[in-house]
Amino acid sequence: PLPKLSMIRYFEESVKRYPDRAAVHYFDHSISYQELDDMAEAFAVLLAEKGVGKGDRVAVYMQNNPQFLIAQYGTWKRGAIMVPLNPMFKEKELEYHLNDSGAKVLICLESLYATVAKEVLPMTKVEHVVTTNEADLLPEGMKESVSLLNDSDKQRFAETIDMMEAVQKRLNQQAPQEEVTPEDIAYLVYTSGTTGLPKGAKSLHKNIAFNAEVYRTWMQLGDEDCVLGVAPLFHITGIVGHIAVATLAGIPLVLFHRFDVKEMLRLVEKWRPTFTVGSITVYIALMNHPDAEKCDLSSLKKCYSGGAPIAPSITDQFMEKFGIYIHNIYGLTESNSPTHAVPFGARAPVDPDSGALSVGIPVPNCEAKLVDLADPSKEVAPGEKGEFAVRGPMIIAGYWNKPNETEKAFHDRWFLTGDVVKMDEKGWFYVVDRKKDMIIVSGFKVWPRDVEDVLYQHPAVKEAAVVGVPHPYRGETVRAYVSLKEGFEVTEEELIQFCKERMADYKYPREILFLKELPKTATGKFLRRQLRDQARKEALKQQNA
Ligand code: ATP
Repeated sequence: PLPKLSMIRYFEESVKRYPDRAAVHYFDHSISYQELDDMAEAFAVLLAEKGVGKGDRVAVYMQNNPQFLIAQYGTWKRGAIMVPLNPMFKEKELEYHLNDSGAKVLICLESLYATVAKEVLPMTKVEHVVTTNEADLLPEGMKESVSLLNDSDKQRFAETIDMMEAVQKRLNQQAPQEEVTPEDIAYLVYTSGTTGLPKGAKSLHKNIAFNAEVYRTWMQLGDEDCVLGVAPLFHITGIVGHIAVATLAGIPLVLFHRFDVKEMLRLVEKWRPTFTVGSITVYIALMNHPDAEKCDLSSLKKCYSGGAPIAPSITDQFMEKFGIYIHNIYGLTESNSPTHAVPFGARAPVDPDSGALSVGIPVPNCEAKLVDLADPSKEVAPGEKGEFAVRGPMIIAGYWNKPNETEKAFHDRWFLTGDVVKMDEKGWFYVVDRKKDMIIVSGFKVWPRDVEDVLYQHPAVKEAAVVGVPHPYRGETVRAYVSLKEGFEVTEEELIQFCKERMADYKYPREILFLKELPKTATGKFLRRQLRDQARKEALKQQNA
């Protein structure tokens, strides 16, 4: 069934049903649904005092803290739109996002305020700045035990509002009720901008509620479950796969403000979460952490990985080490997380041609088809690869203030994902690669994921990302960036030879560069674009020399 309520009403239903149940476990401290609602209501009172109402944009620039949730529910109680921003943004990025969204209020961490204040604010239409400290919601005695906390400069700026002080003062007050419908915009979630300027995806309450329900039913989440938050809350995976699903099911969400394996392991043992969804790099980091084997991870039965391809050898290694199967899940910002997933308990098949691990089957009400890479009006023949086009109640209503970009992204109401996908005769889907990541060597198409899967089969390889580098005769050649597992050694020649024995001649990497760690986005995806740009620059410099 399609969602009947807005996300704020679903939250309030969970508050009524489970007032005393923990909504958040933040490090060692718990906040109940009722406490969270009281603080959100108080925050809504503050927003109402500042004239924030229906359709206004409230930007949030912070890490994974309970304050994020207070801000979110307070914003929605006013019928306003939440704009979650990446806390790693530097001045120019922040300025772009604040201006593009037209944010009226900015909520940020004290420790990030310096970035905000210096040059950015005067260039925007932000009227109110609310600051908060990462430790504000921890009881006195516990502040010290959070070893990960940033040293806040404790600077107070006259023109800012202290979030938790303001909330404390307004507890037990009621904000004027706003009508919020499933058709209203809940968030502007910005794409990361690998193809042009970042775009604000208009996520409606009904889009979020629909996919949260998909997670809840497909992962069979019930009263005994608990969500582990490993993805950033500003990203669609955190928004839907952590916050919305926990809200809908009325179960707790374990939060720690920045991804840290050691801390995560401690919190898994303490709170016994059962479900998580994150990027495969989270699982790779976990698998390679020296403490992981000593920890009891047995509660984590429902593990999903999305946002990037998974090498089948990684799921095998994870299974062998921890007895936990990582289910693949596919989605985008524009689809508010999953359109396809491996049903809980099923095992994803591997495509014999490409070696890709299946991303699963369509979630309920999602339609999917494969269209010609150059002409989206033509469908490809059965079994052929094509661009993935999706349609359904989880797809965004378009981009904020960008009618041209919205028109380009859709064809006849189908959203064009930019991914190259194939379907087998049983209906399993395989993401072969991304249209824009394809490498062409002497006219042959090479999909980076194909080569990366082989690299991952080598016992020394921890992380691998493959890019195309301009070449005077072949057009492009294949270069791999690799990081190695601790205590392992392998030379470039040995690794090239390993690949050469396992793939067609035009495909194997001609160069392998070793890095201590591969650069990643905040969601843990490899920054292939950065590696590719760097490789291109170096190659062109060499060719010109
Ligand atoms: P940008 O916003 O600049 O386009 P992005 O595409 O990485 O960056 P997201 O919406 O976070 O932003 O990611 C969606 C993309 O991630 C998909 O288009 C697909 O290429 C990839 N992806 C997601 N899930 C999977 C999966 N399970 N297997 C393979 N690739 C996946």
